[in-house]
Amino acid sequence: MKAIKVKKVYTPEQVIDIGYIVIENGKINNVTTKKPSCEILDFSGYRAIPGMIDIHIHGISGYDTMDASIHSLKEMSTALARHGVTGFLPTTLTHDFDRIKMAIKIVSEAMGQTSGAEIIGSYVEGPYITPEHRGAHPVKYMRDLSVDELNELIKVSNSTIKVMTIAPEKENAADAIQFLTEKGIHVSIGHTNADYEQTNNAIENGAKISVHTFNGMRGFNHRDPGCLGAVLTNDECFCECIADLQHVHPGGIKLLYQAKGKNRIILISDSMAAADLPDGDYTLGTLTVKVENKVARTIETGSLAGSTTNLLECLKNTIEVLGIPLEDVLPMVALNQAKLLKIDHEVGSIESEKKANIVLVDENLNIQATFINGEIVYKV
Ligand SMILES: [Zn+2]
Repeated sequence: MKAIKVKKVYTPEQVIDIGYIVIENGKINNVTTKKPSCEILDFSGYRAIPGMIDIHIHGISGYDTMDASIHSLKEMSTALARHGVTGFLPTTLTHDFDRIKMAIKIVSEAMGQTSGAEIIGSYVEGPYITPEHRGAHPVKYMRDLSVDELNELIKVSNSTIKVMTIAPEKENAADAIQFLTEKGIHVSIGHTNADYEQTNNAIENGAKISVHTFNGMRGFNHRDPGCLGAVLTNDECFCECIADLQHVHPGGIKLLYQAKGKNRIILISDSMAAADLPDGDYTLGTLTVKVENKVARTIETGSLAGSTTNLLECLKNTIEVLGIPLEDVLPMVALNQAKLLKIDHEVGSIESEKKANIVLVDENLNIQATFINGEIVYKV
């Protein structure tokens, strides 16, 4: 047994001053203001927040999910822990079908082998999307939907796919959404030209996530509210958002918050290999991407191609833009993700019985240490 002593502990119910997080067998045993009689790790000057969960991340630090390499996934895991991320879904993008299959197979094999952020499963973004809002997804590899093919993907992933993107206007989308939902895979709506009705029907069929809301979807018009109008107004829907202030204007983040509140927003990094690295030319799937001033764009169309941000930066930006306290933004980086993925009994907040996945930050939200299962995996 040991305990971490901190200045403040952010639990879902309250912020506890001068608290001790007692850890036993990698789990949180108790959070208390009374000094426990065990080894104390003294981080008195720091605040303890829950380990963050990035459900939509392609790459970081020169490595990408599409490398289909256990080494790359391990490197991503280590790099993410440096930013306070303790769990993630390596995310594929539209590519040759065999390459996608290989990537999700490798993700399933890498689970449990990482020494930083834990791999929770995979996120399949593309190939079941639409050319009109392709972003950095090459049209030539986009595919028609069939339940047989989805079954093939599930099998090859050893049933570790957690989220799959579908454009609701595609043929057979309704059957596919229902099938995936029954299999326990969360369907996300994105890279789509779906209108308001098509999107609401998809949500009714089980699709509960809006992929990087505002980006890669039919926008809002007062006579044609589009996919955006539906995901903003349908209370069932969780909305991903890339809060790097490049993908969405601060006004867009304010609109999202007013529409969805703190319990339905999922901040994501959507980062690619150039995250943590200098400007230059990088590969994203099959495309060459130029990164200038930390903004990644495809050479072909100039479209934004993933980000170079991380969840901690998005957390800071969101606090700044919305002018709300840290405790109101924390659900957007941890607990909402855990609830969505139905793993909130073990991660997502600092509470008894959950894994001791904890991040210690200073007053300016800079990382001091990251704990996973009660062990320090990163320390400044
Ligand atoms: Zn995307």
